[in-house]
Amino acid sequence: MAKTKIGILGAGYAGLLALKVLQSKAKDVEITLIDRNSYHNEATDYHEVAAGSVNADKITYPISDVVKPGITNFIQATVTKIDKAAKTVEIEGHEPMTFDYLIVALGFRSETFGINGATEFALPMDDVESSEAVYKHFIAKLEDYRTSKNPDNLKVLIAGAGFTGMELIGAMAENKAKYAKIAGVTPDDIELTCIDAAPSLLPMFPSDLADYAVKRLAKRGAKVYTSRGINEVKDGVVVAQNMETKEIIEFPAGTIIWTTGVSGSDVIANSGIEARRNRVMVTSQLKDPENDKVYIIGDVAAVMDAESGRPYPTTAQIALVMGHVAAMNIIADMNGQEGEDFKYVSQGTVCSLGNTDAIGVLGNGTKVKGYVASALKKIIMNKSLWETGGVKEMLAKGRFDLYH
Ligand SMILES: Cc1cc2nc3c(=O)[nH]c(=O)nc-3n(C[C@H](O)[C@H](O)[C@H](O)COP(=O)(O)OP(=O)(O)OC[C@H]3O[C@@H](n4cnc5c(N)ncnc54)[C@H](O)[C@@H]3O)c2cc1C
Repeated sequence: MAKTKIGILGAGYAGLLALKVLQSKAKDVEITLIDRNSYHNEATDYHEVAAGSVNADKITYPISDVVKPGITNFIQATVTKIDKAAKTVEIEGHEPMTFDYLIVALGFRSETFGINGATEFALPMDDVESSEAVYKHFIAKLEDYRTSKNPDNLKVLIAGAGFTGMELIGAMAENKAKYAKIAGVTPDDIELTCIDAAPSLLPMFPSDLADYAVKRLAKRGAKVYTSRGINEVKDGVVVAQNMETKEIIEFPAGTIIWTTGVSGSDVIANSGIEARRNRVMVTSQLKDPENDKVYIIGDVAAVMDAESGRPYPTTAQIALVMGHVAAMNIIADMNGQEGEDFKYVSQGTVCSLGNTDAIGVLGNGTKVKGYVASALKKIIMNKSLWETGGVKEMLAKGRFDLYH
């Protein structure tokens, strides 16, 4: 009997978790996993690479460590298009892949919302390479300062004070002394600023925790401004408007980093799949509404949260649960059984403000901050590593400096 062909696009949190479940539980399957990289990225740590707190190899591990030969064939290549009707996937430099079931887990990319100059003059943090590029760019500016004395070289402007922007400015604030040494200045000369159009910060946290975050960052000399809508990005300047006073303010900076939000992979749009910002509104079982053999999960999927009346946010924690549910639903379908609905119960949300500081809310609503919250963040990250890469990767790449 011919084996059932399952394609998995993307070896991020969602794709790798689905792969692990299918490899251990599905019978008579032939899995093809495709990713443009040979390694899995811990995307939740990109800000640490961009800030120079850790090297890229600390947040990556080989996909081959998770692949079971004989069941799964891994292809390192870029997916360009999905043809749901023909049940094929187009891949750069390869024959198209055919499938009986498909899991689309192609993740996110930075979204500029069409703001003029953002693509040309601001740096994204979309993957390990672009995160490394942010660090290299800033270091080059600091080195250049030694001779040019251009004050803008010491300035970083982070556009977007969401989760990513706040984690990034927290990590950078911690490294000010290291940056200052490179430029030959004092830590107080390094200017870190984060701006956002929203009137308040981090809506997923109670306002007292968001206030704590801003105060702690200010203590380390990092400024966060709300109600600053970005009009335009020029070479070395962000032009924003104070949303309350309508005053136009220019933020000059040698390094401009873009963290205003994310969209799903462009492969969704290239494939003509109906979506909003490349996120497909999937069924409660995570299937494409137009093809029940295609599952769309992680940051390329949108599922309504009945409680909030809004789609669930894009997080690694949710991507992992989706990976599990999609794999189990394929197995159920192969066995002629009814699949399960996606449900997510948050164990807690934590936003780091550097290595030893953070804010968080546990699943039961308990608020945490400071050292305790930062230790909790590391435990959550280690759990993700264990779920996708197993004990080996958790021990090799995990964060065990919980008590500092
Ligand atoms: C700085 C930062 C901090 C974050 N912090 C947290 C946090 O604390 N907690 C949390 O839960 N979430 C956090 N997130 C969000 C989290 O990282 C994402 O929600 C998560 O990565 C989504 O997982 P995914 O599997 O859908 O996609 P991804 O992790 O993006 O994986 C997608 C995979 O697809 C591959 N791929 C993409 N396009 C192609 C293509 N065309 N062809 C082949 N392969 C392709 C990529 O190489 C990648 O391996 C953070 C994100 C950032 C950027």
